[in-house]
Amino acid sequence: MTPAPVKINPPAVEESPVFPLKSGQEDFRDHLATADKQGNRKWVYPKQVKGRFYRYRTYASWLLLAIMFSGPFIRINGNPLLLINVVERRFSVLGQIFWPQDMIILAVALLLFFMSIIIFSTAFGRLWCGWTCPQTLLMEMVFRKIEYAIEEDANAQRALDAQPWNGRKIRIKLFKHAIFFALSFIIGNTLLSYIIGTENLFVIITDNPLHHVSGLVFMVLFTGIFYALFARFREQACTFICPYGRFQSAILDENSMVVAYDHKRGETRGPLSRSQTPEMRKEAGTGDCVNCRLCVAVCPTGIDIRNGTQMECVNCTACIDACDFIMDKVKKPRGLIRYASLNTIETGEKQRFTARMGWYTVILSALVCGLAFLLFTRTDVETTMLRAPGALFQKTAEGKIENLYTVKVINKTNRDIPVELKLENLPGNLKLMGAGQIIAPKANLIQASVLIEMDPATLGNANAKLKIGVYSGGKRLKILTTTFIGPRL
Ligand code: SF4
Ligand code: SF4
Repeated sequence: MTPAPVKINPPAVEESPVFPLKSGQEDFRDHLATADKQGNRKWVYPKQVKGRFYRYRTYASWLLLAIMFSGPFIRINGNPLLLINVVERRFSVLGQIFWPQDMIILAVALLLFFMSIIIFSTAFGRLWCGWTCPQTLLMEMVFRKIEYAIEEDANAQRALDAQPWNGRKIRIKLFKHAIFFALSFIIGNTLLSYIIGTENLFVIITDNPLHHVSGLVFMVLFTGIFYALFARFREQACTFICPYGRFQSAILDENSMVVAYDHKRGETRGPLSRSQTPEMRKEAGTGDCVNCRLCVAVCPTGIDIRNGTQMECVNCTACIDACDFIMDKVKKPRGLIRYASLNTIETGEKQRFTARMGWYTVILSALVCGLAFLLFTRTDVETTMLRAPGALFQKTAEGKIENLYTVKVINKTNRDIPVELKLENLPGNLKLMGAGQIIAPKANLIQASVLIEMDPATLGNANAKLKIGVYSGGKRLKILTTTFIGPRL
């Protein structure tokens, strides 16, 4: 008599219409797991997961979300921890003010950032996506948890959505979406404060709205985008929008560590049977996978990891926890789904440091040295001096020649800096127009007009190259060069 298959108790996972694949079918390669053959969206109802990775990720998310939301309020030397003020072209990273003049540093830092991502991903796959990406953290650790609290687990959510609209459903949905919208408003304002600073955001909130129309437009826009992202787009943001997810296929290789199913151990999959001993199961060629599909049911991107590494997988580890739970139940070793590379699964070898990773590390080291050099040689004060537009020379009553210049001083520090200009290579008078002294305000820019007066005899030619020293506290910071125009002799 054929032994009757038994259901594993307690995780009774119902067959989801979202995941119709059976073992051996290959059509998962032809379409997204969350879209049907016509391209229509299939809503994913991931089952709530519990386990050690989920617990660690929860702790990590508390820390990272606390940093993210408090970031705009944290000040280092009076400057924001992070400010990307593209409007005023002012940037602050770890309390250091950067200006457009520091663009070369920014370019190297960006190169370094992308290089690090490539190297990191080559070795550790999408660890970033699962553990630190704000989209995943907010979706899985904030919005999803709220959804579970209001609408309960996957089956209850599916049933609620299938119901016709009634008073209860309207109340539940309104309540959930009101919370989602409020959270999106907070997230949108947090992003805005990283761009314009908390002080400006406070002014927009408290002042007459008519004075801050553009600020309010961005506030509404960001809120709407985040609401749409977390209430509707969800896993589609990772699948269609995120560029990092897009270039994974070009970065990952067989030695990259990813969340992987050990097909050697798991296949051929088959349900447990009460009357089948482990020996009988082995003899029949049945692997450790009991085909319970819990790994599929918990996946927030709707894929079956047993089909291999797929672009939708954000390495959230939910399937690891789910499968470990099953392995405990069926008294098999954990790790049928685990962090592993394809090679480690195929050969049983340890993670290897490949030649490609070696070259990436060399390039990364060179970029780090370049960035360190640029940061080390970065000056506190940036000065430019240009002839006043449209102005030619002037002749004074005493027969001297005058040229008018515009000086711009950028102070990148957190203190006011007095700046003095001196003629270095030729005799003459350098007069500051208006103010007696240039005081460059902290983290700001000052512009001044400077008149240089010279004796025609010292000029010798119609044009003379001038060297002007920029001093502060008696210390020369820089030498500027400019042209002085006089009459042809
Ligand atoms: S891999 Fe694990 S969780 Fe997934 S179907 Fe097999 S036994 Fe179940
Ligand atoms: S396959 Fe596993 S790790 Fe990848 S997204 Fe799904 S649950 Fe997360």
